[in-house]
Amino acid sequence: MADILIDMKNIVREFESGGETLRILKGIDLKVERGEFLAIVGPSGSGKSTLMNIIGLLDVATSGTYIMDGQNIKDLGEDQLAYLRNQEIGFVFQQYFLLPRLTARENVMIPMFYADMPEKDQLEKSAELLEKVGMKDRMDFYPNQLSGGLQQRVAIARALGTGPSLLLADEPTGALDQKTGKQIIELFRQLNNDGTTIVMITHDAKVASNAKRILKILDGNIGEGDTADA
Ligand code: ADP
Ligand code: MG
Repeated sequence: MADILIDMKNIVREFESGGETLRILKGIDLKVERGEFLAIVGPSGSGKSTLMNIIGLLDVATSGTYIMDGQNIKDLGEDQLAYLRNQEIGFVFQQYFLLPRLTARENVMIPMFYADMPEKDQLEKSAELLEKVGMKDRMDFYPNQLSGGLQQRVAIARALGTGPSLLLADEPTGALDQKTGKQIIELFRQLNNDGTTIVMITHDAKVASNAKRILKILDGNIGEGDTADA
């Protein structure tokens, strides 16, 4: 049997707003195998970030089943969810969320620190990851000394710090020019070739076309790449 990392069935997410119930995700079925590079593409407002927050255990569905790495997340307590979120998922966002007073290397070390990694290992691992994302020569630079593309590289290295099963990216190239965005996607392809499972969310069909599999999300419904027009 294939090694299924994400298994979602009939995921619905509703929000209450002004006395109204808004159904934003309308019954999402999604399976992601370990080792995949999946893009989920859809226009602004289609529910991409809402879905990403549920995949990343930052939010809980109103109804439906989500089994991550063989565990039904309904059965997990807050501590176990936090543990999974920290250890098994690396997040990359459109904004890089680097801490301005820390160097690139120190930013990459933050999740390792919270995972109680010995400092010697933090130093080694952060250098190794920054080298992997092409930042070997700029490890001691501060965020404001780095271009957007380089800051996103640091954010990606930080996301990989605890050796997550899944790299989850929401509009990772959204703030970058086309050429720089392409380099970030190229880095994702390289990381995927090295074994990292990637789910990337984007409104940009061109960016999505670099993934190995594409799903489209439209008005809270998900479909194969060729069944809906984003
Ligand atoms: P995307 O990331 O595809 O642009 P989102 O998932 O952010 O879309 O949002 C989808 C829709 O859900 C939007 O119409 C948005 O206004 C609505 N939405 C998202 N979060 C909430 C919330 N907490 N309360 C009410 N509406 C929300
Ligand atoms: Mg979004």
